[in-house]
Amino acid sequence: INILGIETSCDDTGCAIINSNGKLLSEVCHSQNLMHLRNGGIIPDIAQDLHRTYIEPTVTKTLQDAKLTMEDIGAIAVTLKPGLPLSLVVGMKYAKHLGRRYNKPIIPIHHMQAHALVARMHHDIRFPFLVLLISGGHCLLAVVQDVDHFQLLGESMDSAPGEVFDKVARRMKLRNVPEYSQMCGGQAVETAASKATNPHMFKLPLPLSEYRDCNFSLNGLKTSVLFHLHKKEVEHKTVAHELIPEVNDLCAAMLMATTRHLVHRTQRAMEFCKENKLIPEERQQLVVSGGVACNNYIFSALQMLCNETCYDIYRPYPKLCTDNGVMIAWNGLEKWNKGLDITTDFSSLDIEASSPLGESLIEQVR
Ligand code: ATP
Ligand code: FE
Repeated sequence: INILGIETSCDDTGCAIINSNGKLLSEVCHSQNLMHLRNGGIIPDIAQDLHRTYIEPTVTKTLQDAKLTMEDIGAIAVTLKPGLPLSLVVGMKYAKHLGRRYNKPIIPIHHMQAHALVARMHHDIRFPFLVLLISGGHCLLAVVQDVDHFQLLGESMDSAPGEVFDKVARRMKLRNVPEYSQMCGGQAVETAASKATNPHMFKLPLPLSEYRDCNFSLNGLKTSVLFHLHKKEVEHKTVAHELIPEVNDLCAAMLMATTRHLVHRTQRAMEFCKENKLIPEERQQLVVSGGVACNNYIFSALQMLCNETCYDIYRPYPKLCTDNGVMIAWNGLEKWNKGLDITTDFSSLDIEASSPLGESLIEQVR
C-alpha cells in the first residue's frame, strides 16, 4: 500500500507519498513563508488563496515524482486539526474530492501528533516515549504511549517559542540584514545569537521558576526582550537593526532564557514519568520535534539534560521538523498498520481549529 499525505494546516502546502515499508517515494512542499514575511505575518485569506492555487499542482507533482497515479494509492492521510480553519479546509476538501473520485479511504491526522510521530521514521524509537513539541503555534510535553494514545503533561499558557522568535525578529527588523532576509524568525535569531559578544549583558528571568508543573510561559520573556530593545533604541537614538552588537547579545540572551525554561520543564516531566512509571527505566527516550527543534543551541542543551538523566534523545531531520506532507503520510501509515481511523464515510470528517493532543495529565503534574 502507498499512503498519500496532505498537509495544509498553516502556510505550507505539503504532499508526500510513503510506501508500506515506510520508504518516502516523493515529497513536494510549497512554502508561503516569503510571502508572509513580506506581509509581516500570516493573513488567513491569503494563505487560503495560496493553498487553493497550489494544492492540485503539489499533489500532481508528488504523484509524478513517485511515478504513480491515484490508482496506486491505498489511502489518503490529511491534516484535519489543529490549525487555521481557512487553511485546513482546503486540504480536507481536496482529500475528499480525491477520495470520492478514486474511491480511496481517508485517514484523518492530528498535526501535532504527526510532528511527534515522524521522529520514528528514521530512528528506532519505541513506544512509550517522552516528546517535547516546540513549534510556531505550540509548546507542549507529552508521553506517547502509542500511535493513538498521547498523555499531555504540560502546555503553553501563552505564546509558543517559534511565535516569540518570529515576533522579536520582526520587531528587530532582522530581515533588513541581507544575510537573514530569507530566514524565518527562529533561524535569524539563532544566527544572530551565535555572533553575540556579550550574551550576559541582558538579564532575563526564568519563567514559572517556582511552579512544579510542566506548563510553559514565554510572554514575560518576550516583553523583557522588547523592553530592553526599546531602551537601547532610545539610548542610541536609532532603530533596532542599526544596533547590531546589542541585537546579537539580546538574541543570545533570549535564546538562553528560552532554553533554560524548556530544559527546566523537560526535567520536571522526566521526574514525573519516573514517579508514575509512565516510561520504563530501561528504555527512556526523548523526542524533540516541531520547527523550533531545528535550533541547535536548544537541542544541545536538551542533550546535556538527557546525558544526566539517562535518556536517549532524538529529533527528526530538520526538514521534517517544520511543516511538511511527509509527517502526515507517515502518521497515516502508522494508523493504517494498526487499523485506526480509516474511513470511507467522508461526511463524518470535519476540521477543528484547536484540538487537545490526547488524554490530559496536567492536573496531576504538580
Ligand atoms: P504548529 O505546528 O504549532 O501548528 P507551525 O506549524 O507554524 O506551528 P512549525 O512549522 O512546526 O510551526 O515551525 C515553524 C516555527 O519554527 C517558526 O516559528 C520558526 O521561527 C521556528 N524555527 C524554525 N527554525 C528554527 C530555529 N533554527 N530556531 C528556532 N526556531 C526555529
Ligand atoms: Fe507545525
